[in-house]
Amino acid sequence: MNPYVILGSGLGTNEATSLSARLSAWHDAMVAHERRLRTGVTSDLCDDECPHADARTLWLEALATFGSRAQELAFLRSRARQSGRRQTSVSVSHQHAELRS
Ligand SMILES: [Zn+2]
Repeated sequence: MNPYVILGSGLGTNEATSLSARLSAWHDAMVAHERRLRTGVTSDLCDDECPHADARTLWLEALATFGSRAQELAFLRSRARQSGRRQTSVSVSHQHAELRS
């Protein structure tokens, strides 16, 4: 049992089950993708098709489906943050909101 399946089965809805299956597949693809990048034995570079591009979308889906329990998915969360680093305006405005509160 991986953490995605545990979360999905905990909710028991069809939506949660199908999302946890997609997250499991994404996790495997991401691990293999990062391994290839680390070893540098291929010319496999990041593009719009690589698992990094899916991380942010899947993370938002996980938040919408699992709510606060999505925070348990540390691997997905960290990769979603990496892929979102180009959107600096979002994090800057978020910091301003935190300062005001
Ligand atoms: Zn990538």
